[in-house]
Amino acid sequence: MLVDSKQLWLWWSILLFVGVYSTPILNFEYHNYSALSQYLHNMATAYPNMTRLYSIGETLRKHKLWVLELSTAPKSSFGIPSVKLIANIHGNEAAGREILLHLIQFFVTNYTNDETVHWLLENTRIHVLPSLNPDGFEISVEGKCEIGPGRENARFVDLNRSFPDHFQSNTKPRQYETQAIEDWLSNNTFVLSASLHGGALVANYPYENVMENTDMREPYPPSISPDDDVFQHLAVVYASTHPTMHFGYPCNRMDREFQGGITNGAAWYPLTGGMQDYNYIYHGCMEITLEISCCKYPLTHDLPTLWDDNRDALLKYISQAHQGVRGVIRDNNTHQPVLTSGLKIEGRDSYFRTSSRGEFWRILLPGTYQLQVQATGYEPQTIKFTVPQKRLEKHLTPTWLDVNMPPVVRKATVVSDQVLLPTNPPDEASTVHYTATQKMVGLTNGHTLSPALFTEITLTSTDFVKLSNTPEADSHKPEKLLSVEDAGSDGIMWTSMKYMVILNMIFVFVLLFI
Ligand SMILES: [Zn+2]
Repeated sequence: MLVDSKQLWLWWSILLFVGVYSTPILNFEYHNYSALSQYLHNMATAYPNMTRLYSIGETLRKHKLWVLELSTAPKSSFGIPSVKLIANIHGNEAAGREILLHLIQFFVTNYTNDETVHWLLENTRIHVLPSLNPDGFEISVEGKCEIGPGRENARFVDLNRSFPDHFQSNTKPRQYETQAIEDWLSNNTFVLSASLHGGALVANYPYENVMENTDMREPYPPSISPDDDVFQHLAVVYASTHPTMHFGYPCNRMDREFQGGITNGAAWYPLTGGMQDYNYIYHGCMEITLEISCCKYPLTHDLPTLWDDNRDALLKYISQAHQGVRGVIRDNNTHQPVLTSGLKIEGRDSYFRTSSRGEFWRILLPGTYQLQVQATGYEPQTIKFTVPQKRLEKHLTPTWLDVNMPPVVRKATVVSDQVLLPTNPPDEASTVHYTATQKMVGLTNGHTLSPALFTEITLTSTDFVKLSNTPEADSHKPEKLLSVEDAGSDGIMWTSMKYMVILNMIFVFVLLFI
């Protein structure tokens, strides 16, 4: 079939239109706030099935802190780990900001033709925050390799010194940016994280601070976390995949060498209020700090090399979220998810928590471990599991470990018209199941209930008793909330009244016979 020139032009125009609008163009150049925002919006529009754009807050200069989530996993899928990547917390450390934009581009454009990218998007939720300090970036100067303007935010506060600190009191006032991160971490369950910096070439892992009164003369001793083996592994994965970081060469004569291109944070230089320790200690998220360029704000023409150097290291680092154990904590009776922040690997004094759906994740190296689970209203559980050394699968896959929690059951005595509750009240805001030993008919306490057979009494809080009837008595459907205190005092009063009546009767009886 012959196609005339008009038709040909029409087809070319359509292809050009689709091409331009399906993949927003990303050049190797620095993007200011408006260009960065526009690019992220274009990406979210062009790839609605694998991206989600949201903001976690706003800076003093009214710049939104944009996050682009990358994933093709359905929202309903259980056990998908969330990873976050943050750059530009120091506004003048700019390379990471552009590298993360290129990482977004790489993921969405290689979903169909790169097997690793495809697998990661199918099995991971990757949240990318290219700039945590857009206010600082706006006043930074390209080519300034050492100290320069823009490190701090618009209030001249170093954001990487403004987080709550476990080791030493941090009096720095909370900033919009740090508050946004704190809320973000509280509302999500991130498993793994990286913060991209500039000014050195090293992967830095927790802890980055030391206890007060520690001898602070150089060389600083390392501050070892309970998951030191995992953190060292994460840092080694990045440094060894990076073409030069693992050499550990100093960036200039004044710097030190880093063996294998990694360092414990405190052993390099201790700092208070850092984001890395905050992630791990307060939220159970494993974060390391990646110093990816000797120059803090490299020239534009260095960006292609920086992207090439960090691309594979970032992909391999993200995949580490799949190393270790994961599962769901459920109620043994109802099979509903149990939410708790009382998860811990035995021998590691570091807690982590479930997601809002009862899911949990923990990165662990091969070995045998015991998971300890504590949840209010449930009997504590300890479950042994193994993370195998060798796996048949091409990609890292975690050990699945679903945990069923038996609710705490306490006995309550039920006597015809009274409920005698145990003297010790349940833990605060807990659900404790009381199993009655006898049947009961009705209740005192001012409530008139139809006679029914109650076999289970559930305390839904410290203040109320919920009565559940047996299936046989279902037709009555009595379900009342009673104050525990009231029920208790009424019980005592009722008992006292009975004694008073008996005493009075004995008294009258004695009088009659005197
Ligand atoms: Zn920095």
